[in-house]
Amino acid sequence: MTYKPDFKKAYILANEILLKSRIINAFPFSVTQLIKEILDIQCCSFKRAQEHNVDIEAFGSNSAILTEYFGRQIIFYNQLDIDERVRFSMLHEIGHYLLNHDMDTANKELYEKQEIETNFFAAQLLMPEQTLLELQSRGKTIDADFLITSFKVSKEAANKRIGTMHKINPDFRSKDEKEFDDLILMKYKMFLDSIMPAKNQYNWFEDEYERQMEREHWY
Ligand SMILES: [Zn+2]
Repeated sequence: MTYKPDFKKAYILANEILLKSRIINAFPFSVTQLIKEILDIQCCSFKRAQEHNVDIEAFGSNSAILTEYFGRQIIFYNQLDIDERVRFSMLHEIGHYLLNHDMDTANKELYEKQEIETNFFAAQLLMPEQTLLELQSRGKTIDADFLITSFKVSKEAANKRIGTMHKINPDFRSKDEKEFDDLILMKYKMFLDSIMPAKNQYNWFEDEYERQMEREHWY
């Protein structure tokens, strides 16, 4: 059996959150507030955990980890890591949870497939592809520096995103994937306009005028 990452599943899950969340209205957004909103999961720093005698050594070198603590799911995060990395790691953990990943697997291939899926999920939430393509079509140059400053991601995540973007041809997406695109662009219109106003924003007025002229011509 081979394990192919289910990009579609991760993409749709992220898009549903991008559309439904009341916390995300622009970028960057509060990751802790989003996690509280969608799953009612609290985030707690390693420092605070240590004060409550949680064995943080067991968390290893992770920036964040989702685990059960006294019957409740909690995300513990390393407050010493840079914000950008913690934000990504928190969403990476949430992705595992929402995508029903098997976290106890000893299967290396399955583990890697799950890692790719949840990273793709986190990247889509933090830097939605639709917004990047829209900004690009408006003439904005999408490079790592832009992603780092406008979406608050690490240099590593920014470079990875650019690499992925080069590989994706959005025209090949299925209909159910595409149906989110317009709704997402509509929801984040103010954010997009604040970065790069749409060219010929008022074109549709002209179109409407022309259509009206045509209609009048029929009478
Ligand atoms: Zn993971």
